[in-house]
Amino acid sequence: MPTMTDATASGLCAFVDASPSPFHVCETVAAELTEAGFVELRETDGWPTAPGRYYLVRGGSLVAWSTEESGHGESPFRIVGGHTDSPNLRVKQHPDLRSAGWQLVGLEPYGGAWLNSWLDRDLGISGRISVRVGNTLQQKLIRVDRPILRVPQLAIHLSEERKGVQLDPQRHVNAIWGVGNSPTSFLGYLAGQAGVAEDAVLGWELMTHDLAPSAVVGLHDELVSAPRLDNQGTCYAGTRALLAAVEEPGEAIPVLALFDHEEVGSMSDRGAFSDLLNSVLERIVLARGGGREDFLRALAGSVCASGDMAHATHPNYPDRHEPAHRIEVNGGPVLKVNQNLRYATDAAGAGAFALACDQAGVPLQRYVHRADLPCGSTIGPITASRTGLSTVDVGAPQLAMHSARELMGAADVAYYADALAAFLTPVE
Ligand code: ZN
Repeated sequence: MPTMTDATASGLCAFVDASPSPFHVCETVAAELTEAGFVELRETDGWPTAPGRYYLVRGGSLVAWSTEESGHGESPFRIVGGHTDSPNLRVKQHPDLRSAGWQLVGLEPYGGAWLNSWLDRDLGISGRISVRVGNTLQQKLIRVDRPILRVPQLAIHLSEERKGVQLDPQRHVNAIWGVGNSPTSFLGYLAGQAGVAEDAVLGWELMTHDLAPSAVVGLHDELVSAPRLDNQGTCYAGTRALLAAVEEPGEAIPVLALFDHEEVGSMSDRGAFSDLLNSVLERIVLARGGGREDFLRALAGSVCASGDMAHATHPNYPDRHEPAHRIEVNGGPVLKVNQNLRYATDAAGAGAFALACDQAGVPLQRYVHRADLPCGSTIGPITASRTGLSTVDVGAPQLAMHSARELMGAADVAYYADALAAFLTPVE
């Protein structure tokens, strides 16, 4: 069945494989937006007054919007939020190590990575480097899809009583990339790949990625096996939703806000704690000739859907889930509620998303975490408190969250995108 957003499981696989780092997520989304007539704006420039489709990139974060809505005066915003980063292993500042005749690259965890899932995988490297050109700096994206890194597991015969080993993030996640004792330079290798001199590389944010391609799996192709579904599942669905929303404009200004650094607390120049969203929303109003009063009035009528992946009920651990809130893959998007506000959902936000699902013909599931287990969080409570926007936390169900390889339902890809598209285009 063709959906309003054309979101598909294979489309999600291609999106994830194109996007090994937050910077590459922004590049992938920007390419899709550009094709649909979106124009990149810079924060250092004056912004055009004409209605149009625009986006901006700040590091690993991206915000996109369209002012071609059908309203007049100060239209409210409809915002879909998400995050571009995923837990992984990242390169240290002095990465070149040698041990027992092996050449190693010093790595450390980023965010709440399930360390066991990174073992025995063929890993590539991606991210960005800051390169000196004369007395100026250029940021360059970098990506190596060759399997040059590997974090090997201990042989079972060398573990105590053949039990699973406890992984130490300091000692056990360094990657092998060669043998011998001759000096090697990992950054020198990467500089060569980027076509620059090693001593011109002055800063870097470099991370590993699993090179096994994403795949549609299961007896009836009903599942998606991929890395980084948390939260590229939302980045993909949100992008499809925005592209659908601009084709059939509603009375609100549709906004897609994808933030870096959610997995490490969002407190950075471009994380959800930053001024990024507030500043973009205010500048949208100012560029159209509105003032501060108009901006505050627009905010008061706006709603944000914070999209992040949700926990499907695990068949091998059903006891870890709230028994009256079973979440099924391919059962539709998930509304997430937490009484301690780990999720921002309130009755008004829940109503807005439930209505959008109904308008899109998409089933809706409702999640609460077990009351005796600590609940994770999202950008939802952060953007809600930074902007004062009515907010709802939503997601698509998946298993194995924060593993190097995650699993979600193939049908949920279109369900999720269609629900977000309807949310972006509220109709009276
Ligand atoms: Zn997440």
